Formats: sequence, structure tokens, C-alpha cells
Amino acid sequence: MAVVEFLLRVGFEVNFRDYARKTALFFAIENGHLDVADFLIEHAASIMVRSKEQKTPQSMLKALKHKAPERKRKRASPTPSFVCPGAATRSRFAEWEWSQEESEPVIERSEDNVVLESQQYFVCWNARGCSKRLRCSELEFAGDHAHLHQDATWYRDLTTQQAEALVNVHADDEAVRLKVIEEMATGVRPSAFTLPAVSQQTHTVAGYIHASFADQTMTITHCKVDRPHQGRGLGGLLIEAAEKRAQKLGAAISKVKLTVLETNEPARKCYAKSGFQVCGKSSSIFPPCNCPEDSCQCDNKIKWLTMEKRIA
Ligand SMILES: [Zn+2]
Ligand SMILES: [Zn+2]
Repeated sequence: MAVVEFLLRVGFEVNFRDYARKTALFFAIENGHLDVADFLIEHAASIMVRSKEQKTPQSMLKALKHKAPERKRKRASPTPSFVCPGAATRSRFAEWEWSQEESEPVIERSEDNVVLESQQYFVCWNARGCSKRLRCSELEFAGDHAHLHQDATWYRDLTTQQAEALVNVHADDEAVRLKVIEEMATGVRPSAFTLPAVSQQTHTVAGYIHASFADQTMTITHCKVDRPHQGRGLGGLLIEAAEKRAQKLGAAISKVKLTVLETNEPARKCYAKSGFQVCGKSSSIFPPCNCPEDSCQCDNKIKWLTMEKRIA
């Protein structure tokens, strides 16, 4: 129990889901730790999330005849050691990121579909019927950028729309967005593509890279490793796969470009390891402000770093 409290206090995501789409709350209930379950629910753990086995914490608690507690309301004067300021924001984002799709499409490995692979993952260029799943990753990509700033005072008021706008994945029409993603992931577009990374073990999506090319330059717009797969070298594999794919499509690429938020330490390390160097800076829209469009005077904006790499 002390461990759970500690994890929540240091910013552990209460609604983080594993490969079976279960949150910590599922495990607490399954193992009979109803005190821990109550604590998690009080700290904004969702009781409505559905696991792969189609269970929800709500239905499991009902079967145990256990009444879920109320979520704790905000205190008038919060004591720092007793509240997790970001918990509500994280919970809000977690529900949004996975509201689209509950199923986990399976992508079978076939020789002609593999761009590049490691022992754990293969990167492919043609993944039909995965657009909703890739859209979830895309929203998680926006969420990842938001959560980098969980210690900032403005984090708790951050909206999912602002997070989407930061990384340019905001969609006015969700159906149109899904159609574009489907085209990108099935190799239909001549000079842009999305390559999903697939787990060799479960054959399910583990991340993706999205890139376009023109005039000998390839621009990587998204390089997304899903949270359970982070820290395993998948980012580097995706970048290498994108370079290989562009060459395969006949692009004579001499330069690869991308932008990374200066606050995104893990991504910057990954890109540096892949041979990228910082060559420019520009302002992001974070922290959000209320300036009228096109006339922002704020000088506190977090910077995007432009990184480049020359390739033979
Ligand atoms: Zn807490
Ligand atoms: Zn401003």
C-alpha cells in the first residue's frame, strides 16, 4: 500500500494500461487488495475501463459485492504530501487516448511486408485495418508530450485539444483523419508513409513512424513508441526503417530532419544516438497562453529543436 501511495505521488499514471489493457486497479481487485483498489479509485483510477477480456473494474467489484468509494474532491488548501496535482489531468488524458478503439488488431508477419526487424519487433509498410489503433497511438503521442510537463503549474489545466495542437494531430473530422492514416499505413501515398512497429511476440502494434520526403530530404513527423515498449531501442529501429523505406520508394535522400521538444530528454537521446544533431530552434505553443492568434508576445515558450542527419 505504501508503494502504491509512493508511485502515485511521484507521478505514476494511475490509468496506465498493460498489453492486456488492464490498469493497476484490475490487479488490485484480482488479488483481493480491496484497500488498494479503494485508494486507486479515490485517486482517479477509472472503473469503466475495459480490459481485453471485456472486464471492467466496476463489474469485478460488483461481483465481489464491494461498493466503490467516491473520488476524493479537491481540498481547499492542499497539503503537498497528500495530493497528486497531476492525477486528474493524467486520468482525463488516459480516457481520451483510448476512447477510440478497444480492440487490438493482429498483424501477421510476412516476408514481403517487413521493412526491418529485430528480435522483439518488426516494422512493416502495409497494415490494413489498423487506422483506429494507430490513431490511439497518435493521441498517446500527444499525451506523452503533455505529460513531459507534469511538474509545471499549467499542466493541470491542459486540455487534450491543446496537446493535439502541439504535435499537429488535431482532427476536425475524425473519419477523414482515419482515412488518411489508413492510406499512410498501407503504402498508397507516393511520398509519405506510416510504418507500424509490431511486436514479434503478440503481433500487435507497438508504435509507428510517420515521415514524408521531398527534394532529397526526409522529414520525420512522428516517431512514437507505445508506453509499454519504451526504452527497448524501438525508436532507433523505426528511424532506420523509415530511411530504408524511403530509399526503397526511389527517393535519393541525403538528409533526414525532425523536431523534438527541448523538454523531451529521452527522445533527444534516442535521436542523438541515431546520428542527429541540433541545428535550430523555434517556439512551441506550450505553455498555452491567451494571446490572440498570430500575435503572441510570450517569451516563456518551450522550444522545438530541429535536428538533422546527413546520410550517404
Ligand atoms: Zn495521491
Ligand atoms: Zn502568448
